[in-house]
Amino acid sequence: MAERIKIATPARTQAILNKYGLRAKKKLGQNFLTDGNILQAIVQAAAVTDQDDIVEIGPGIGALTEYLALAAKRVLAFEIDTDMVRILAETLSPYDNVQVLEADILSVDLKTVLAASLPSDQPIKVVANLPYYITTPILMALVQADINWSKIVVMMQKEVADRLTAQPGHKDYGVLSIMLAYYANIKQAVQVPRTAFNPAPNVDSAVVVLDQQAAALPVQEPKQLFSLVKACFAHRRKSLWNNLQQRFGKDEATRDRLKTALAEAEIEASVRAERLTLNNFTQLYWALGAAGFYSEQRP
Ligand code: SAM
Repeated sequence: MAERIKIATPARTQAILNKYGLRAKKKLGQNFLTDGNILQAIVQAAAVTDQDDIVEIGPGIGALTEYLALAAKRVLAFEIDTDMVRILAETLSPYDNVQVLEADILSVDLKTVLAASLPSDQPIKVVANLPYYITTPILMALVQADINWSKIVVMMQKEVADRLTAQPGHKDYGVLSIMLAYYANIKQAVQVPRTAFNPAPNVDSAVVVLDQQAAALPVQEPKQLFSLVKACFAHRRKSLWNNLQQRFGKDEATRDRLKTALAEAEIEASVRAERLTLNNFTQLYWALGAAGFYSEQRP
């Protein structure tokens, strides 16, 4: 890294907030990172090089943005809070490769904005200390946006990180793990104590790395597949058979069609959804399509 890092120390963070007469806004999930080692570890987890274009969500006062600006080619940061955007105009003024957009990340059309603000043939990387109150919607929006990305490296509360990275059979394994596994290979990279922030959150955190990976069994309508997965987890402690009848109906004709689909997908009716892999669900989805429950079938 070429230059001295200025923003992310406990004293400097507090001084910046004081200067602007501001406090972290809880409702916007504002917990500012003040630990340079953690920031360095995030940049490393994203393997940021000077060839990379980075999208950051929620730059706050610019702690992570500064590290990214020093390591990457360009940084495009989305910040919802006008007060933060005002601060960033000062804290990031030394960096001419950073652009801050005042916007709600959940309302922007990422494809259009990226085409205008970060034109490139190269895939982008997303690197962020996320606002925890919208971690899941942000991740789903990113993976479902029609954009070219190679890595998403994001800090979130540890409990959510555990759910995202859980494997079949684990108590944390569920809808979220399966939906994200459709788009990416996911792992935890850095464990972060609450003392690394100002103010300290009530929970510990972890950095999760998503490496873009095409699904082994791609479907035409991922949202339909995910709605099936959700239905199968509707009553987690109950069998797949129970949940499928709950979703599609209990009359004899429906039960016969469900049995045919399960046999075709080679899945035991008595199993619980938490035992099934993403590929199991896709096979079941296609078999249910063949039985007339969905419009899509095995290609
Ligand atoms: N990146 C900074 C850091 O690491 O110190 C701040 C991270 S803080 C956990 C989350 C940031 O996301 C805050 O600056 C907050 O204002 C911003 N934010 C909250 N909701 C947002 C949204 N919908 N769109 C964009 N930014 C948002």
